[in-house]
Amino acid sequence: MSTIAGNIASVRARIAEAARAAGRDPQEILLCGASKMNDAAACREAVAAGIDCLGENRVQEMAQKLSEHAYDGAPLHFIGVLQKNKVRQVVGQVDLIHSVDSMGLLDEIDKRAAMNGLTQNILLEVNIGGEDSKSGFRPEEVEYVIKTVLARPGRHVRIQGLMAIPPIAGKKGENMPYFLEMHHLFVDSIPLLLHNSDKLYLSMGMSGDFEDAIAAGSTMVRVGTAIFGARHYGAPAENLS
Ligand SMILES: *Cc1c(COP(=O)(O)O)cnc(C)c1O
Repeated sequence: MSTIAGNIASVRARIAEAARAAGRDPQEILLCGASKMNDAAACREAVAAGIDCLGENRVQEMAQKLSEHAYDGAPLHFIGVLQKNKVRQVVGQVDLIHSVDSMGLLDEIDKRAAMNGLTQNILLEVNIGGEDSKSGFRPEEVEYVIKTVLARPGRHVRIQGLMAIPPIAGKKGENMPYFLEMHHLFVDSIPLLLHNSDKLYLSMGMSGDFEDAIAAGSTMVRVGTAIFGARHYGAPAENLS
């Protein structure tokens, strides 16, 4: 077994354990491999090992790896900060954009999807820690945003749920309150969201905290390091964004 396949197997085992401990069905939790700064060969290994989807952060890196058929066989997601001027390169290329962090970005995606004659699946990113350094909707505006978007005639986005990256935790368990708050927001949104999609996701949890996220109700964890190993910043791939 390759290292990546082995890592995926152990992450899956940890997901299953966390789910069982929370009285949840492990099957309802999707494993999204955060493959930034890992090459096409690494992505292919993850696909071969049965990863549920791969998530990219940088538009140019994703375009390069798409041209190398890195993701063939698994859904591709965009999970990183997305600038409006790069929307064109992402809409229609990915099954789901996790990181829709403003109405301006949402509008741009909607416009581009309409031009391409498709409907783009998106998640609303919530700035759950209220951090100045992060973008994202405020928890209290989520309901209004969903209602506003769903009321639009000729809409070309499908809101499939919520995503969050809580503050960097100093110790284990520290982000539990944020994860629980996200779960509440998600549960409150479900009746509205079911009007536009029957597949809904709560995307939260990374290598350092996915077990807590699962305990709180995450349905999609985005795991990089625990699958692909440590990222080497300063390596050529970093210049690709
Ligand atoms: C890199 C990244 C992850 C995964 O982070 P790890 O700590 O390596 O698991 C998850 N979500 C987003 C948005 C990321 O950029």
